[in-house]
Amino acid sequence: MTKKTSLIVIGGGPGGYVAAIRGAQLGAEVTLIEKNKLGGTCLNVGCIPTKALLHAAEIMEEMNHAAEYGIKVKAEGYDWKQVLAKKGAVVNQLVGGVTGLLKVNKVKVIEGEASFIAAKTLSVKKKDGKTETLTADKVIIAAGSVPAIPPIPGVEGNPACIDSTAALSLENPPKSLLVIGGGVIGMELATAYNAFGTKVTIVEAMPKLLPMMDGELTATLRGLMEKKGIEILTEAKVLSVGKSGADAEIQVDIKGTKKAFQAEKVLVAVGRRTDTAALQLDKIGIRHDRGKIQVNDFMETSVKDIYAIGDCLGKIMLAHIASVQGELAAENALGHKASFDSKTNPSCVYTMPEFAGVGLTEEGAKEKGIAYGVGNFPLFANGKALIANGGVGAIKILYGKKYNEILGVHILGPRATDMIGEAALAIGLEATLEEVINTIHAHPTVTEAVREAALTAEKRAIHIP
Ligand code: FAD
Repeated sequence: MTKKTSLIVIGGGPGGYVAAIRGAQLGAEVTLIEKNKLGGTCLNVGCIPTKALLHAAEIMEEMNHAAEYGIKVKAEGYDWKQVLAKKGAVVNQLVGGVTGLLKVNKVKVIEGEASFIAAKTLSVKKKDGKTETLTADKVIIAAGSVPAIPPIPGVEGNPACIDSTAALSLENPPKSLLVIGGGVIGMELATAYNAFGTKVTIVEAMPKLLPMMDGELTATLRGLMEKKGIEILTEAKVLSVGKSGADAEIQVDIKGTKKAFQAEKVLVAVGRRTDTAALQLDKIGIRHDRGKIQVNDFMETSVKDIYAIGDCLGKIMLAHIASVQGELAAENALGHKASFDSKTNPSCVYTMPEFAGVGLTEEGAKEKGIAYGVGNFPLFANGKALIANGGVGAIKILYGKKYNEILGVHILGPRATDMIGEAALAIGLEATLEEVINTIHAHPTVTEAVREAALTAEKRAIHIP
């Protein structure tokens, strides 16, 4: 028997569960299908567990600098089981929270894997072994992504090679770790394991780490990470992974010179691929590009009444984007008409110090031929930053030469990922330098430096000559 409902959501990650709740708020009878765990990648093997490990790493780092502040403690070591237990407890609490929210909103959750058998009709292979057929007026696909395995000889099936999911549950921090990929995930896990005493080497094929971030601040971050003992190779292409005694050995081509590196583990962090194979998209003609579902600005797929959001689009793979698109898709499915705009999307990297950016980078502005100016304020001139981390980092504001509107803000420094919200709001409201300057910022805070960067742009900075 085919069960009928008004809205089906496939996937219970930050895209899917948010879409389901928003749909229920708007009066839909919602069924959510999840094949693994509610919370998806983000809560279970992504954003939250990485930040839990990084927080533990930050405590270690703070303790090791405590003497500078007159505090007589030093991290004597760590209890890894407890580090993982704390991470697990936070994850469980959040997953429990999502479960509760779905219940309160009367969203029916089915544990199983969904695949299309006709437009808006799905077969669900349930965890209990049974199969159920469901149909709905509207369907939102939020199937997410999984780690991509690059076609490097020796990676697939190699027990020394781990992906980000495995890296979050290792029995112990390895003595040495080679990280293939200098993107966000590689940089964050490199930061965490470095703090736990692992000898870390990052190997990145491109000339620059973190391709979407401001180049100048990325170079500063690279120097800071190298100072902590992390070896970083760029323009370095991994040719193969093999063995050397008990360790893994990777062959790398660094600007034309071949070199071998050994390590206990190799973290493969070269990106993620969409998890859409089981859905049988071709059966109902949903347009996709090698599994990346194509949608318009209203999150509509090529098949009427079917929407797609989040990582399964293969574009901006971030939890906050999946959630925003989830709200939009639910609203559009239920009679509204709102379009997606990524203009205020912040990119955050939870290194030590943190790194965050929103809007245009200098590289992007140059590429687009936009006439821009820059205000750059170093954090050694900011009291709160000086107290927090010795004043390491800077804030850069890019503005349009004609109207003085804020085009981009890039922050390397303590709590950068919290501070970027102000910048996103400024860009969303098309604020000018003057409007940021006219906003009173509390003292002492690191956010004062956002205003100072705007003052610097206007050549009237108070706290730097
Ligand atoms: P997912 O979270 O992947 O959820 C999709 C869900 O759909 C999964 O639970 C899956 O089991 C289910 N599913 C798939 N196919 C089916 C099917 N056929 N039937 C039923 N269920 C199905 N983003 C940030 O914004 N900030 C961060 O700090 C951050 N850190 C990250 C760190 C790591 C290590 C990783 C790996 C990712 C990180 N991300 C971060 C990215 C973030 O996790 C994803 O962008 C986000 O989870 C995407 O949400 P989603 O709902 O689109 O997909």
